[in-house]
Amino acid sequence: MKKILIKNAVAIVATNTKLNAVDSLKLREGSFDISNNSMIIADNKIEKIGKNLICEDADEVIDAKGMVVYPGLVCTHHHLMQCFARNIPASQNMELFEWLRIIFEVLSKVDPAFMYYSMMVSGGELLKYGCTTLFDHQYSYPREQCIELADEQFRGADELGIRYIIGRGVITRSTAEGGTAPATIVEDLDHALKTIPQVVEKYNDKKPFAMHGAVVAPCSPFTVNEDTMIETVKLARALGARLHTHLCETLDEEKFCLEKYGMRPLAWMQKTGCIGSDTWYAHGIHFNDEELKILAETKTGIAHCPISNMKLSSGVCRVPEMIKLGVPLSLAVDGSGSNDGSDMLEELRTSFLVHRLTSSYDAPTGAQLLNMATIGGAHILGIDSYTGSLEEGKAADLFMLKVDDLDNVGAYDDPVAMLATVGYKRPAALTMVNGEIVVRNGKLTRIDEEKMSAKATEFYKTVRYTR
Ligand SMILES: [Zn+2]
Repeated sequence: MKKILIKNAVAIVATNTKLNAVDSLKLREGSFDISNNSMIIADNKIEKIGKNLICEDADEVIDAKGMVVYPGLVCTHHHLMQCFARNIPASQNMELFEWLRIIFEVLSKVDPAFMYYSMMVSGGELLKYGCTTLFDHQYSYPREQCIELADEQFRGADELGIRYIIGRGVITRSTAEGGTAPATIVEDLDHALKTIPQVVEKYNDKKPFAMHGAVVAPCSPFTVNEDTMIETVKLARALGARLHTHLCETLDEEKFCLEKYGMRPLAWMQKTGCIGSDTWYAHGIHFNDEELKILAETKTGIAHCPISNMKLSSGVCRVPEMIKLGVPLSLAVDGSGSNDGSDMLEELRTSFLVHRLTSSYDAPTGAQLLNMATIGGAHILGIDSYTGSLEEGKAADLFMLKVDDLDNVGAYDDPVAMLATVGYKRPAALTMVNGEIVVRNGKLTRIDEEKMSAKATEFYKTVRYTR
């Protein structure tokens, strides 16, 4: 058995409650215990958390002097491929529908290499900024592609060492049918129904501590047809996979649903069956009071993506009300085209600021946002029994930040709130996933970052937006 001792930390941000993720989120002071300074890791699990622990048979001793140890961040909504569609001048002053038309021009070029390099770029950045579990919503599988794309994304994830859950997306509604997707990215429904099981059966590992997972993720109300939503939902449930889609991101989407389906977006989700404790939506901004109650009653989750929502002028998610009602909440970066990066630490800070601006006294606290970004995300992904918090017996998914330098003087007295209230703007000193050190001194340990950056840049030149 391989053992690692982490000692002398400023604090270990462990969990001190047996409350579930949704109930602990209601605690404004948080549910963290920062009284310990050391931790023993045995293989992939946290064996012990305590004060001044000794481990004489440790294979490695990590001196965490001047560092805080946090639970690994969980990103519940991303589009890795957008890393090759960011900072496009033509897309900078747009809202979602017109912006998507430009982004899809790039993403319709998807092939196995596109999947691999986008994982190495965005997955690598996520790890460097403390994210240990990633859910990626891969929009679509055009031109009869499927498993070969998923294989490349998992190959990249395994090379990096990130815990990875794929969202097998589906787009069946083209611009000709009133959607936003060009015909080049649209997939035939029969192909989707035939190939979704290949991805789910190969990658949806439900064993504890699994590094792989798969979710069925029809793209959004305006990129699929009603039969696509109904059939993919049925298929997901038959396969025992969770469900994910975009919902209530913009008022344009609401208008689209009223015109095409004769009902509001959440009513359409109820009609098509895409709702429940096995389901979560990206964004979830434009819900009315009654709909918020339905989310809480059905235990349907939300991936809050504040930077993307600000950039695309989509609106502000009603996080304070959702917390009070008990809606399962998580944090996510969304794709790099609307972020324009993959830094969950930046997302935490931004979320704090936007809710302070719009909700003042009711805004979530730093502790609540850290909860959302960790155990909240793990709960929504159905993996909170083994990750999302630093607790004995759980996976060693964590990151360490150096805080004893000039720019953090005075800030780390409250290390729990600090990530949201002060922010942390550099890569992690160390990131560990399932007991493996994947970032050290701010650099990925398993790949040569400079070489990968050069290769990914060469690839980017072959797919970038040129019009
Ligand atoms: Zn999205």
